[in-house]
Amino acid sequence: MARNESNPPFDWQAWYGACGGRVDHTPGASEIVAEIYTKQSLEFQGPAAEERTPFDTAEQAARFVKTAARAAGAAAVGITRIEPSDIYHGRTVSETYAIAIGQRMRWKHFQTVPSIDSGVECCRVYQDLGEICISVARALRDRGFPARVEDPVGDSDLMHVPIALRAGFGELGRHGSIIHPELGPLFRLGTVVTDLPMTCDSPVDIGIAAFCDRCKACRKFCPADAIPDDRDPRAGIDPIGKPRYVIDTGRCFPYFARQHYCSVCLAVCTYKHKVWARDLGGAQTKLRPQTVLADPPPTVDPDPPAKVHDYPRFKVLYNRKHPDRERPA
Ligand code: SF4
Ligand code: SF4
Repeated sequence: MARNESNPPFDWQAWYGACGGRVDHTPGASEIVAEIYTKQSLEFQGPAAEERTPFDTAEQAARFVKTAARAAGAAAVGITRIEPSDIYHGRTVSETYAIAIGQRMRWKHFQTVPSIDSGVECCRVYQDLGEICISVARALRDRGFPARVEDPVGDSDLMHVPIALRAGFGELGRHGSIIHPELGPLFRLGTVVTDLPMTCDSPVDIGIAAFCDRCKACRKFCPADAIPDDRDPRAGIDPIGKPRYVIDTGRCFPYFARQHYCSVCLAVCTYKHKVWARDLGGAQTKLRPQTVLADPPPTVDPDPPAKVHDYPRFKVLYNRKHPDRERPA
């Protein structure tokens, strides 16, 4: 059940390094990310109890998992079978089921985007997600069922977004992130994988993606001009049968890396629920964030990449910056 050790993990640090560093620009986030990598990730795997306490039905197993996730603080949880297309090129995942877990980001930290405050909140939520995922995986292992966490923030074998879409989390927005009917777009994802048979959830079609075809708020505000006008049938269809909007990651990523994980498209999204503007803890909040549209850095890959992590311009850029280092895969 381990990941494929023959393939080196994607070199996220080098990738961010080519854009000027991941957390260097966001004081306060560095410590959180370092803790995730050096401490929290050690808990992502572990041995299952020798004695197994079975479930009577797949439905009972699903209920157990969802209860464990909610008890650990998850804002959303769903279950789906893992499809080959969920797995990153060059990796293997032997488990059958994925438990998608979502945690909300607090609106009071997105009053100005991009900002150090919003960047730190992104990382804090990833750390929180890690703890929730660890709790769920541990609950399964304690009952004798192997389970492990797919890293929410860094080196995952699986793509969290298609998994969460099939697990009923909402619909894919024009900005490439999921819009959840209750949480809106301001949440982050983690995944736990296991072979325990569980009743699966289904994708939902409640008109969010159709609304995106008429709304272009994120398209207009994206400082890197990375969000498209039209859907692109060449990129395949989403779980409710719509061609996808393809985000130009070569434009988005350098801005995202340098500007505190950007988040402009999430904060300006029309589906950012108004109820959040009342916010928590008495903080003063507003319906619309203040957007700081700094000039974007040079693009990394001006064409939509053919496949995830295939960024030819990035490799050129990386080689130029690090002529003495081996290029990341
Ligand atoms: S994260 Fe920022 S740069 Fe990337 S698509 Fe969203 S608004 Fe554009
Ligand atoms: S801002 Fe509008 S177009 Fe963009 S994802 Fe949100 S609802 Fe869809």
